[in-house]
Amino acid sequence: MAKRTVRDLQDLKGARLFVRVDYNVPLENGRITDDTRIRASLPTLDHLVKAGARLVLASHLGRPKKGPTPEFSLKPVAERLKDLLGAPVAMAPDCVGPEVRRMSEDLRDGEMLVLENVRFHKEEEANDPAFAHRLVTDTGATIFVNDAFGTAHRAHASTEGVSHYVSRSVAGLLMEKELRYLGMARDAPDHPYVAVLGGAKVSDKIAVIENLFSKVDSLLVGGGMAYTFLRAEGLVTGKSLVEEEKVELARRLLEKAGPKLRLPMDHVVASAFKEDAERRTLPVDQIPADWMGLDIGPATIKAYTEAVRPAKLVFWNGPMGVFEMKPFADGTLAMARALAESSGTSIVGGGDSVAAVTQMGLADKIDHVSTGGGASLEFLGGDELPGVACLEDA
Ligand code: ADP
Ligand code: MG
Repeated sequence: MAKRTVRDLQDLKGARLFVRVDYNVPLENGRITDDTRIRASLPTLDHLVKAGARLVLASHLGRPKKGPTPEFSLKPVAERLKDLLGAPVAMAPDCVGPEVRRMSEDLRDGEMLVLENVRFHKEEEANDPAFAHRLVTDTGATIFVNDAFGTAHRAHASTEGVSHYVSRSVAGLLMEKELRYLGMARDAPDHPYVAVLGGAKVSDKIAVIENLFSKVDSLLVGGGMAYTFLRAEGLVTGKSLVEEEKVELARRLLEKAGPKLRLPMDHVVASAFKEDAERRTLPVDQIPADWMGLDIGPATIKAYTEAVRPAKLVFWNGPMGVFEMKPFADGTLAMARALAESSGTSIVGGGDSVAAVTQMGLADKIDHVSTGGGASLEFLGGDELPGVACLEDA
């Protein structure tokens, strides 16, 4: 179901908006190492600033478990935002309280205030109604804009709770883009539709596999999760990553999916989980007893990239191998290139897969690189995300 967005809001001049963004950026010694998430919020902020709205931005950062902790402060984020916008950005000392009230009232048209980390209060994750109410009353917001797709799978005070105390709740432009592309992958794909699934574990992706295979034309499996399926086919897998308790489920999935579900035919095996381990390329039915499979092999790369080429829609989640170690990155690199070169719509979702395409410098050649790791998987698994469900239907 499509949602109303900031584009559907009129007469924003002077209006105060509570904008939930995802500024959960990686930090090292107080320095931001990747500001992709801050940049991703700029289209929404731009749109609202031009309309003359007054913006109060809320986000979490990290997992502060003991209340306010300087290392989880959003101050460096506000600084970076100021640089990116080339405009002043105020920073509040907390996300509720008298100072927030005063600073929100001081906002003029087109100005913005960043609230301190909402997770400094345990009521945030508990979705405490009184806390959600305070977020709205202390900021004086009348409209909720959710642009934090990456946290939309959690019903927290700032992602869902606030929607009950404002007159309107709409999606930001990043949220809209996520819903449009991932909605295509989940509900209304163009055909041929190819899904590529890899990564560490089958158990993380069961719902996605089950939900997708009635919609895809082929489902290409690689990465560590392939070994649970290979074991289900009766192959010897050495020390490769196998989830014993999922082998039976894998067998059922193989039966249900039939020839749509494809498994690697060759792999790169190694004597240890180490960059400089001894390695060999072998058919998947061969592996020395103490060795482990750490990447898909060249024949699989060829078959999978050929399957992706004619696709009108490709969705990829999960690396094809242990790409963090160069000798086992070929499969993931080849898949990233295949998506980048495909003429159809290409979508990548999942924390590590996104990191892989970004590292490989291919992110801008992919139609949609999802910012929501866990959220994109829950969405594709068919779950309604609470931070989306609370927004107005279009
Ligand atoms: P995503 O975050 O994209 O959803 P996952 O978290 O499921 O992906 O999996 C990513 C991890 O899977 C990576 O750290 C990668 O090293 C690991 N992986 C991929 N292939 C293998 C393999 N054959 N054996 C062990 N680990 C693997
Ligand atoms: Mg991951």
